[in-house]
Amino acid sequence: MKVLVINCGSSSLKYQLVNPESGEVFAKGLCERIGIEGSKLEYEVVAKDFEKKLEVPMPTHKEALELVISHLTDKEIGVIASVNEVDAIGHRVVHGGEEFAKSVLLNEEVLKAIEANNDLAPLHNPANLMGIRTCMELMPGKKNVGVFDTAFHQTMPAEAFMYALPYEDYKELKVRKYGFHGTSHLFVSETMREIMGNPAHSKIIVCHLGNGASISAVKDGKSIDTSMGLTPLQGLMMGTRCGDIDPAAVLFVKNKRNLTDEEMDARMNKKSGILGLFGKSSDCRDLEMAATAGDERAVLAEKVFIYKIKSYIGAYAAAMGGVDAICFTGGIGENSANVREKTLEGLEFLGVELDKEINSVRKKGNVKLSTENSKVLVYKIPTNEELVIARDTYKLAK
Ligand code: AMP
Repeated sequence: MKVLVINCGSSSLKYQLVNPESGEVFAKGLCERIGIEGSKLEYEVVAKDFEKKLEVPMPTHKEALELVISHLTDKEIGVIASVNEVDAIGHRVVHGGEEFAKSVLLNEEVLKAIEANNDLAPLHNPANLMGIRTCMELMPGKKNVGVFDTAFHQTMPAEAFMYALPYEDYKELKVRKYGFHGTSHLFVSETMREIMGNPAHSKIIVCHLGNGASISAVKDGKSIDTSMGLTPLQGLMMGTRCGDIDPAAVLFVKNKRNLTDEEMDARMNKKSGILGLFGKSSDCRDLEMAATAGDERAVLAEKVFIYKIKSYIGAYAAAMGGVDAICFTGGIGENSANVREKTLEGLEFLGVELDKEINSVRKKGNVKLSTENSKVLVYKIPTNEELVIARDTYKLAK
């Protein structure tokens, strides 16, 4: 069985050809700057450690996908003889609204239902749908499956997902917390449960810290709360997103600075977060280097970033009545010993004891970072959203 996993953005297409049973990745890569000058393809054959980068015009996602298929089936550097070997295609879909609490086999009716959520994710869902339609056109007859970023969080109780706005805003406009990164929170919490020996009861906090960052409370395998909201702007401070702020600050800044809605939206989504406070970069590595060198704004940005994560850990421990395990994932969560250590500093009252030495050594795979005496397990667990998409696709398409 070979599943092609596709993640389409408005100008990008990420792909992986995966064996959903073994998890083996045959080939993977990325098309960037689709429809923009300087489009690039990256193609990697994992087993052979072969990598190719190519600058080639890709006016639309169709040309991008054609290029991906021609590489996958290339006589010399390909990994399959023809697309007949692709058994099914799994697609990341950002917003499934309240309709999709699980992955789904895609057909015209389902695509219309996804389209109905476009308003909720105007940047992402149309791009995801374009990817799906392009696959249907270029590889007719294949089964396509949609895997939603929001699905895992559909188990949240009303007290966690409702905003205290007038009720009709929920009823008529579907304004509520949905949460994102669900595929990652599912993968990491399930991996943690397996490590714990699949107990009937478990209280797990997953910190997905990357350019986008979110945190979730997973009780007995179900998401009961998460930090992102109606959109991925709520919650933690991120690379370029502000996360939680007083909603009144939005109108205040917009009016004082005489900004349009679009400009204010860009200010909060693209110019805030680490970039906004630090001022020089949105990248955590740059931030850490500058903070170590004594840059005051870097030190401030790092403190705010960490304080937010710590606050959410406290809130979610309270929401679950305790915590058995805290997991770190995402580019920052998996790689920054500094962020992990500072986040857990002061959480000894919860029973957290970090082994600072193990935490500071870079090791691949799942790593236990807590001491033997720690009441709370602390783990680094590399996320694998593509594998979840491949497995769900396999289950629904076989
Ligand atoms: P992601 O969005 O999950 O790819 O994560 C990207 C973020 O991970 C960026 O802010 C990177 O700076 C950060 N990152 C990657 N490697 C490291 C590292 N060794 N130390 C600190 N941050 C890292």
